[in-house]
Formats: sequence, C-alpha cells, structure tokens
Amino acid sequence: MAEPVFFDQGARVAVLTTQPLDRMLTYRAPEGGCWQGAFVEVPLGPRKVMGVIWGPGETGFDAAKLRAVIRVLDLAPMRPEMAAFLTRVGDYTLTPMPQMLRLATRAPGLTDPPSMQKVYRRGGEVPARMTDARRRVIETLDDYGGLAFTLSELAGMAGVSTSVIKGLVGQGAVREEESPRDLPYPRLDPDAPGKTLTGDQAVAAKVLRDGIAAGVYGTTLLRGVTGSGKTEVYLEAVAACLARGRQALVLLPEIALTSEFLTRVEARFGARPAEWHSGVTMTERRRLWRMAGEGAAPLVVGARSALFLPFRDLGLVVVDEEHDQSYKQEDGVLYSARDMAVLRASLTDAQVVLASATPSLESWANAEAGKYRRLDLTARFGAAVMPEMRAIDMRVEDLPGDRWISPTLQAAVGARIAKGEQALLFLNRRGYAPVTICRACGHQIGCDHCDARMVEHRFLKRLVCHQCGETRPMPDACPSCEAEGRLAPVGPGVERLAEEVAGLFPEARLAVLSSDLFGSARALKEMIDRIAAGGADIVIGTQMVAKGHNFPHLTLVGVIDADLGLQGSDLRAAEKTFQLLRQVAGRAGRVETPGLALMQTFQLEHPVIRAILSGDEEGFWRAEAAERKAAGVPPYGRLAGVVISASTAEAAFDLGNALARADGPLRQVGAQVYGPAPAPIARVRGRHRVRLLVKAAKDVAIQPALRAWVGQFTPKGDTRLSVDIDPQSF
Ligand code: ADP
Ligand code: ZN
Repeated sequence: MAEPVFFDQGARVAVLTTQPLDRMLTYRAPEGGCWQGAFVEVPLGPRKVMGVIWGPGETGFDAAKLRAVIRVLDLAPMRPEMAAFLTRVGDYTLTPMPQMLRLATRAPGLTDPPSMQKVYRRGGEVPARMTDARRRVIETLDDYGGLAFTLSELAGMAGVSTSVIKGLVGQGAVREEESPRDLPYPRLDPDAPGKTLTGDQAVAAKVLRDGIAAGVYGTTLLRGVTGSGKTEVYLEAVAACLARGRQALVLLPEIALTSEFLTRVEARFGARPAEWHSGVTMTERRRLWRMAGEGAAPLVVGARSALFLPFRDLGLVVVDEEHDQSYKQEDGVLYSARDMAVLRASLTDAQVVLASATPSLESWANAEAGKYRRLDLTARFGAAVMPEMRAIDMRVEDLPGDRWISPTLQAAVGARIAKGEQALLFLNRRGYAPVTICRACGHQIGCDHCDARMVEHRFLKRLVCHQCGETRPMPDACPSCEAEGRLAPVGPGVERLAEEVAGLFPEARLAVLSSDLFGSARALKEMIDRIAAGGADIVIGTQMVAKGHNFPHLTLVGVIDADLGLQGSDLRAAEKTFQLLRQVAGRAGRVETPGLALMQTFQLEHPVIRAILSGDEEGFWRAEAAERKAAGVPPYGRLAGVVISASTAEAAFDLGNALARADGPLRQVGAQVYGPAPAPIARVRGRHRVRLLVKAAKDVAIQPALRAWVGQFTPKGDTRLSVDIDPQSF
C-alpha cells in the first residue's frame, strides 16, 4: 500500500472470521466514506464481524446491491506497514488473511475504547494504620509524583492485591477518579544513566546506538555467555531508541523472566514498561493495543505475539534468548517470532537485536553470511569465568540400576554444599518416572488418546500424558492383566531424582523446579527468588532452569543424563542438546567463585559431548553447518512439513498418498516430497497424524509451489491439513 486512499463506494474488506475464507469481500463504504486501513464492523451472513478496509472493491458489482459497512470503529487505522507485515507473514506461512487478522486484532475485537474509566492517584493524608502493603502503594504513587494509574497497573507496581488499594481509597489516601479514554503508559527517562560499561560492552553498545541513530533496518546477533552483560548492552539500545522518540519491543521466551526484567527496566528508566503475555488481563491488553497504536507505550515487554501489536513507530526489537524454541508458535499460525521480528523491523526501518549465549544455527549462519552484524561479549562481568566442564564416564561408575547420581557427582555435590554453596542437578524429564511397567505381564501404561506413555507424577498421585494433558489416578492394579501391586516405575524423572537426593543428603534444603509444579507465575517467581537468595542447597530442575535466571550462589551443575536428546532421527538434536547443555552449565559460577559443570555420559566420544567439554563453540557450529549443508536442510535449504490428521489412520494416509502422487507443482520448482510417514507422534488426542516433508534448494520460492500442490485437494470430513514452514524437528 502506498498513500492511504479514501473510499466512498465499494471497498475490499479483510474480515476477521474463523471460516475458511481465502479472499477479501467487497462492501459498500459506510455513510460519509472511510480511509484505507480503517477498522470497521461488517455483516457476514447473520453475524457482525470486525474487518479492515483493505483496498478498492472488485469491479463488476452493482454498488446498490452490496452490503454496507455497518460502522467505523473508534480505533487508529491499520498502518500500511502493518498491512504489509500481515500480508508477508501470511504469504510465508500460507495463512489466509482472516487468520492473520485474528492474531493482530484479538485484543480490541469489536469493542470501542472505554469512554471513561477509573484511575488512581495520590490523595490526602496518610492513614494512621499502615501495613507494609499500604506503605508500598503510597511510596509507589509518591515516586511517580502525581501520575495516575489503572487499578491493575498500580497493584502490579506496588506488588499488592487490588483490595489494598481499594482500602486506601476508603481512607482517602488514594483518590479514585474517572478518566477519559485510556491512560498512556508512564514515560521512561532515556537519559537516566546506566551502569558503567566494560570495554567489550561499551563497544557493543556503541555499535547498537549507531544503528538506532542511522534510522535504518539492521539485525545484530549479540552473543555472550550468561552474565556477560547482554541485557545491560541492549538496554543501551533501548535508551537510544526512546531518546529518538521511537518505540521499543523486548521479547522474552518465558513469562517467568518478565518480572525480573520489569524491575530492571524500572531501576534503569524510572518507570515500568507495558507488559504483553497470557497473564495480562484482556482489559489491560486492549489498552496496550490501543496505546501502542498511538505511540503512547514507549517500551513493551512481552511474548512472541507482541510482534503483532500495531506500534505507531517501532524502532527496535530485541529477541532475548533468541535460540529458544518457544519462539516458534506451534498452534494456529505457525510462525517463528525470531524470523518475523526481522521481517517486521525491515518494514519499519528498525533495528533488531538477537541476544543469546548459544545462538541458533540459523542466526549463526546469517552472521557468517554477513546478513547480520555479530557482536561478541567474551568475558563474564567482573571476575567471573565460564565454569570448568568435566565428564563423568558412566561406563565405569559403580551405580545400581535404580540410582542416577554417580559416586563422583555425589562427592562433588557434598563438597559444595558443605561450603555453603549451591548445587543444581539437571534432568530434562518432568514427573516421577517416564515409564510405568507391570512386572507381572510387561504392560506399559499408555495414553488412550495418544501414541505416548503415561508419566507418573507422584506429587499429584496421578498419571499424566505429556501430549494431551489427560490425567488419571495412579492405579493399584495393572490395567492389562489386573495383577495387584505389580506396577513399577522405570527410569528417572525430576521427582524421583529429588527422592534420591533427599536420601543422599538428608540435611540439605531441596528445591524442585519443574513447570508442572507451579500453579501460577507468581508462585514460580517466589521459588526462583528464594533460590537466588540462597534459600536452597540443592536445586533439581528440568529445562526451565536453563532460561536466563541468575542464581548467584550456584557453583556446581550436575547433568544427570547428558546423552538425553542425542538419540532419535531429528536433525536438530545436536544443536538443541548443545544449546541446552551450554545454557545449563552456564548457571554455575559467579563473580567470587569459579563454577564446575559435571556431565554424566555414556558417550564421551560423541561430537556434542566433546564440543561441550572442549568449549570449542565455533568448531561445533562449523561442523554442524557442514552437515546441514551436505544434507541440504535449513539454514542451507528449504524445508516444509505437511501434517495431515484424521480420526482414522487410513483417512490421513489416503490424503497423504494422494498428495505424494500429485507432486507435479513441486517437481516444477525442483522440490522433492518425502512420505507420507507417521508423524513423530503418530496419534495425539485421538487423532492420527501423518507427515510429508518437502525439501527444496535455498533459492526456490517454495510457498507458491506448496500452495498449488496442497490446493489440488480439499480435505474431506474431519481430515485436517496444516503446513509448517521451517519445522522445528525434521
Ligand atoms: P546477560 O544478559 O548476558 O546474562 P546481564 O546483563 O544480566 O548479563 O549481567 C549480569 C549481571 O552483571 C547483572 O546483574 C548486571 O547488572 C551485572 N553487570 C553487567 N555488566 C555490568 C557493568 N558494566 N557494571 C555493573 N554491573 C554489570
Ligand atoms: Zn494423551
């Protein structure tokens, strides 16, 4: 779209609907006309839906017979670059526009901004009876001298429940007022001084600041071990962006990391940024959606879908922990937030910072190819050094079959906690035991709906399917042969490991960090804070401990099964395992105390284990890149997965086979199709899944060919087909 156009007759409207609608509909412009990009309400069948005025109506319609736009919503029109972004993401991921629009406008929906809403500011005298919570509210308001906040915002900033604020209103210390429309977010002070940067950090910060000052698109891979100051450096870029009056977005892979980050931003810029993730209320999300569009949310911190906020002038996107797999959306629109951040920035002359201790091979390769700038922070801040990495050769350790902590690891843990230091034992398996087997008949308990085993969770006293979430009580008798009391756990999960640790170190204070053990982000944060403050001697955790948390007392990391994840046919297995082991090992050691990471392994000669032990990261990436190049897979070739699901395996295979036979459109561009084969998990939630893989050379535009190929068939009955460009596992 070039200059916005005014319409007073027919207009093509992109409508927001769940119906499979692959084109735009033409409506008669509303009374008085409207601008391109306007959000409107239109009739669709018997319903009213939201839409966006996209372009001139198709010709050949009798304007008088067209249905008319009902009204124009009181929202800032969609900007041309946002429309271009949605079009490009839709084209890339083969997603029809209605579904893209849902992603971009779920928050405002068909609602108008509130005409009036309640806001809270400092009132009169402070009451005589003050609790800690009340004092925090008053102090927060005093800090912001005269500013007003919404109830949830003030509660979040003061760390109190909303009832505390209501109580203060009752006493007059806080004033409740009606305010027209939305409140803008507090201003952040871009000139507030940051920390004094070290040499490396200062150089990196200057490069990023210069990029922002140039006002053009550019992507930088900011690589540095945990604790090297990446956050400190990209906050400088945020400051530069804010100083130019543009908006900044910081994406984090996990909600649990948000509150630590908010506190840090507040300490640096004097106010909290806006938050966007599943834990934020719909009211608050609506406000942020509108304020982002008016340029009144200077900094947004959020989950991947924040990329689809209608920023008025986005100048910087930071993708922290850019290698993290949760950036790939696995439901609905299958997009990679990391890649789409780069696209979005390129459309708005913005800078991108991809930060990681262990970059994805994609980003590493883009930096090698000169598409991304690369900045390395080589040292940890202060005197801290990377931990020493050592293997424990499990072939020679004396260990009974139902124990997982080798004598060598046990001794190391004992020595650390005796000195008052913290140890982390890492095992990437939730629950008590991955398999439950009947010792009478050999039956393994599986899920009724999935091709997966049920996992015993002893804290819950239940069996849980990690695919579909189905749970049932732990039975006494074997579901197959009905033998009583013969069910036995096989293999370790974190809960079972915790049991072993409790037996070995009865005096130690244990903390188990596993995502299923926390009901809320707040409970999880409390646990993380407790560990960081030294409130545990031994931490036992799944992969969630690998993500960005700072544990200053931690000096030893023990990896229970370094080989886990290396098996299987997934071509990304080596990359993922390497990243995970580096991330976990990187938790050990801080400024005063050098860290040690011990890897229990049966495969000392495996390239991943050797690279971890030697610390030769570049060597690992080069070897991995050579293998991918030879196989012609991403990032050196194009790959798409097509997953077909149906209530019977036969129906899924029928469509799969038909597609495989009709591969003309693919052959025309030199692409090959493999399969159909059962998907990696062949049955989920009662639906059978088969998969085809399409491989093409890097320079092939694969989407049009895929569209033509898939478009030859219409899935019948309950058969569903979805295309995943750049699948995570292949
Ligand atoms: P990363 O993001 O690479 O893990 P951080 O930016 O979180 O690293 O830095 C790790 C810790 O070191 C933080 O507590 C941070 O405040 C501190 N730090 C980093 N650089 C400096 C500096 N130049 N001056 C003071 N403290 C620093
Ligand atoms: Zn299941």
